Amino acid sequence: MGKRTGGGGTGAGGMGTGMEGARERRVRTGGVELCVAELGDERQPTVVLVHGYPDSKEVWSEVASRLAARFHVVLYDVRGHGRSTAPVPLRGGFTLEKLTDDFLAVADAVSPDRPVHLVGHDWGSVQSWEFVTVRRTEGRIASFTSMSGPSLDHLGHWIRKRAARPTPRRVAQLLGQGARSWYVYMLHTPALPELAWRGPLGRRWPRLLERVEKMPGGDYPTASLPSDAAHGAWLYRDNVRFRLAHPRSDAYAHVPVQLITPTGDPFLSERLYDDLAAWAPHLVRRTLPARHWLPRTRPDQLAAWIGSFLTAHEQVSPSGGHRPASPSGAPGPYAERFGGQLVLVTGAASGIGRATAFAFAEAGARVVAVDRDGEGAARTAEMARLIGAPGAWAETVDVADEAAMEKLAEKVAGEYGVVDVLVNNAGIGLSGPFLDTTTDDWRRVLDVNLWGVVHGCRLFGRQMAERGQGGHIVNTASAAAYQPSRTLPAYATSKAAVLMLSECLRAELAGRGIGVSAVCPGIVNTNITATARFAGVSEEEEKRRRLRASKLYAMRNYPPEKVAQAILRAVLDDRAVVPVTPEARGARLLSRFMPGALRAIARLEPRL
Ligand code: NAD
Repeated sequence: MGKRTGGGGTGAGGMGTGMEGARERRVRTGGVELCVAELGDERQPTVVLVHGYPDSKEVWSEVASRLAARFHVVLYDVRGHGRSTAPVPLRGGFTLEKLTDDFLAVADAVSPDRPVHLVGHDWGSVQSWEFVTVRRTEGRIASFTSMSGPSLDHLGHWIRKRAARPTPRRVAQLLGQGARSWYVYMLHTPALPELAWRGPLGRRWPRLLERVEKMPGGDYPTASLPSDAAHGAWLYRDNVRFRLAHPRSDAYAHVPVQLITPTGDPFLSERLYDDLAAWAPHLVRRTLPARHWLPRTRPDQLAAWIGSFLTAHEQVSPSGGHRPASPSGAPGPYAERFGGQLVLVTGAASGIGRATAFAFAEAGARVVAVDRDGEGAARTAEMARLIGAPGAWAETVDVADEAAMEKLAEKVAGEYGVVDVLVNNAGIGLSGPFLDTTTDDWRRVLDVNLWGVVHGCRLFGRQMAERGQGGHIVNTASAAAYQPSRTLPAYATSKAAVLMLSECLRAELAGRGIGVSAVCPGIVNTNITATARFAGVSEEEEKRRRLRASKLYAMRNYPPEKVAQAILRAVLDDRAVVPVTPEARGARLLSRFMPGALRAIARLEPRL
């Protein structure tokens, strides 16, 4: 029997935030005793979460509690960590072969008859790569979600390939990853890491995580951290040098793999996964702007991605094999970036907003459809679910109403999490000469088109900033933002303000990894003309003009779906100003290079 660790944590049912109600058992294997916790209904598909270094199973508490409503969630302290015992002697006790024994013992104990889904972070992922690429686990694993932890075999080949044919790009990649691996070299020095972790580093680590990773405080890390970190150094010493020097040539994954890559990981370069498709034939890639400790900083996102991947791979095709990996059933060009993300769209009951909600749904995002037209928003949410959104909800809110927007922001954060992409799109049309436009007309158009955007940016932007993991805000402006017109003084002013607000905010939030884009469509075939106000004319004339404008817009026939695609692309490429439609692009060019021509056009009075 191995010796006890100086583990922290408390008994079953009180293991820290979000783990209340966890059932605990001990599994004996290879001279150690593993502490295993379970949440959720055992009849549901089992998902095993494997923690990394220097962590214990509590790193998963926020993700586990979210998954427990739908799955049988299993977590265990890796040998020598948390409340599992450590092998004696430590040297040679942490080989990947032994870690595979441990995993199989846990899987057999918690799900003897059905394969389990595997999720690994950091070293939990490194060892899980071993589990899913060795033959003896075949049939015991249904899927694997990997984050921030490559296979040592794949890494060995990655290094060899670059060292064998060193083009400047490859050398840069090698040096880039080499520089990020400083801590791996440190961990190979004898005794020093143990002294540091049991001394000052162990004491300072929680504060460091809070500061550098922007990790919310709370019950993590647990009190076992110094001994976890000291024991865990053997994970590196027992495996890294040997495997990198002798990588297995048959390390092919025999299960579908979902790779989640945080783009701001200070320890791992994104380039490490360039060749992964060759090793994992059923591969789905996800990226998100975040740092290393995703299980703590992005639990909503992870739970959504893990949940949809598991669900997709629980459904067995008629031939008995797995369905091709497509979380949320919606691959599409944007799935990798937006799948599982939380996207809020205002003005989502119609036109550009609805098309945008659908486009994000198709990419596998979770969607909150907001509109003052509640029925229309509900229809959008319903359709979004049918299209493939893993979650879609409708909220009835007037974006001009500050208090209602505040309530919305609170509710969304509480129920669905922090929004990853915000699309401030709700807007109304107002046409007519300045001298005929009343102050009430002005107020209404500014309240919706400008203040609605201000409220959205202020409330959801703050949440994004406080979360500290980036995000994106899209504001629907218009080509009218830079194209003056004698007939659109109020509308164009509101949109010019939105454009400038977007630019200023972009500058302010850049340092926080939050992008801001202003999308500027030209003439798009939506309902806007049917509801637009025409100032200075009789009611009858207003009706006639609405009809006439609607006909003209229909003849132009530029579909809102194309604007939606431009919005997704703007987020993907983090673009500042995005004119959509040829006339919008043309006007943008004129405004920069021939403003005089644009001014002349502004004097023309369109005949409606
Ligand atoms: P649309 O009328 O089809 O959709 C607008 C949606 O916003 C509607 O569902 C409406 O109920 C909602 N809405 C309006 N006021 C609201 C409020 N106060 N609170 C909540 N929801 C509200 O029009 P669209 O063309 O899809 O417009 C979307 C955005 O695109 C607007 O900001 C508009 O100014 C802008 N835009 C449209 C065009 C165009 O040609 N259609 C061109 C440039 C910019």
